[in-house]
Amino acid sequence: MGQRNEIKHWINGSLYTGKTERHGEVFNPATGEVTAHVDFATPEVIDHAVNVATEAFASWRHSSLTKRTQVLFAFRELMNANKEKIAALITAEHGKVLSDAQGEVVRGLEVVEFACGIPHLLKGGFSEEVSTGVDVYSIRQPLGPVAIISPFNFPAMVPMWFFPIALATGNTVIVKPSEKDPSATMFMAQLLKDAGLPDGVFNVLHGDKVAVDGLLEHPGIKSVSFVGSTPIAQYVYETGTKNGKRVQALGGAKNHMIVLPDADLDLAADSAVNAGFGSAGERCMAISALVAVEPVADALVKKIAERMAKIVVGDGTKGCDMGPLVTKVHRDKVASYIDAGEAEGGTVVVDGRTLKVDGNGFFLGPTLIDNVMPSMKIYKEEIFGPVLSVIRAKSYDEALHLVNSHMYGNGTAIFTNDGGAARRFQNEVEVGMVGINVPIPVPMAYYSFGGWKKSLFGDSHAHGTEGVHFFTRGKVVTSRWLDPSHGGVNLGFPTNN
Ligand code: NAD
Repeated sequence: MGQRNEIKHWINGSLYTGKTERHGEVFNPATGEVTAHVDFATPEVIDHAVNVATEAFASWRHSSLTKRTQVLFAFRELMNANKEKIAALITAEHGKVLSDAQGEVVRGLEVVEFACGIPHLLKGGFSEEVSTGVDVYSIRQPLGPVAIISPFNFPAMVPMWFFPIALATGNTVIVKPSEKDPSATMFMAQLLKDAGLPDGVFNVLHGDKVAVDGLLEHPGIKSVSFVGSTPIAQYVYETGTKNGKRVQALGGAKNHMIVLPDADLDLAADSAVNAGFGSAGERCMAISALVAVEPVADALVKKIAERMAKIVVGDGTKGCDMGPLVTKVHRDKVASYIDAGEAEGGTVVVDGRTLKVDGNGFFLGPTLIDNVMPSMKIYKEEIFGPVLSVIRAKSYDEALHLVNSHMYGNGTAIFTNDGGAARRFQNEVEVGMVGINVPIPVPMAYYSFGGWKKSLFGDSHAHGTEGVHFFTRGKVVTSRWLDPSHGGVNLGFPTNN
């Protein structure tokens, strides 16, 4: 075996060369091989990084809006020029196919483009003459060093939901990427430096719970933006707020797609396949529960199964449709959900457990399970893999009740040709992001991304104006300037009547 890559922390504009006692292994999920060792942060390294970010904040917060946007514009150019390289890094550590990896870079860049408009977004309000000679105006100021803790499934896009806006608003940043696929963040750190970002403004700390706890407890960290599974999101929210920090913690999901009897079933079947199995179902906006409102279930299941037969599963670099899952542990966990669904009475229409791919990659084929009931484990829990459950409902009301009763409320979609039904759904559904004949309704960067219920802890969604608010504190100034004709030094102004 060749020499393993060593992935180090990025502090103060360069790789941190200090000693590391603990490290993690990074795999190529398509081959099962360990391809790198990643250093895990200790409390001492965390303290060092926070001190660096605190020092850098003193000058970055005073950098002009022009300087900040120039860096972001340059970063955008560099990212575009290196899109294929970043996609290759993502595929090598996450497993998703290259086109998907490029897609996440593009979606992340939309937030960079949004943040390039920060001079407009930071304009405050001004009220002249609220009392005689008195004006009131509002300004928004940065928080200080902020932490971003991201999941494995979008190693480039999820950090980009936050750091462009955090930097544009004058904060300094420490990203703690997933230890499973840290290389995309490291690549972006270098590009930010190349784009002219001063050293210390953007830092990367690797690690596991120790690194996360260190950031949550450090008094120098002013806010935490977290994305990951619900139990950890809740823990991060509770621990971070207990330590006096502003926290937004985005959690897990169980996204329902409702198909009404009048829907275009070919569009619905195409959408279910793309949204259920794209990125091997490892998307927080993946469709996991398909609610077929009778009498469409039989026809829809048939159409979906026909399309699934054409999905080519393999190494994400080799032009196939679906790659492996991220780790062997996760692959086996997802397969165990299929076992549970079958044991509880679900009908396995397409069985991904039977898939064979040469080598030791963490592969599992796309799976379709019909006749899933709300009481089953596969319905209640997030699976986060290529498993699509079909629940048969008798009416719109029953379908809506299913969505609204579920503990998660990230994304949902309805398929229908009836505008009135769609309008009623958008009004009645208790979910943060809603699609109408669109299966993965990820908001554009100028809107905000976030779910309801157990899919988000805290008040702020990611990016859009909510992102600008999250990374700034409001201040209102009430000022009285006496007219120059009043006392003091005579500047020659005429008396103001
Ligand atoms: P995860 O919760 O295991 O890890 C997320 C981050 O938390 C990682 O950086 C990890 O190192 C850290 N972490 C893990 N265990 C921890 C612990 N015990 N204490 C402190 N920190 C810990 O999530 P994941 O498996 O990397 O990502 C998949 C999950 O993320 C899914 O549940 C998915 O739905 C969710 N997700 C949600 C959104 C959203 O927008 N709501 C987006 C992407 C992913």
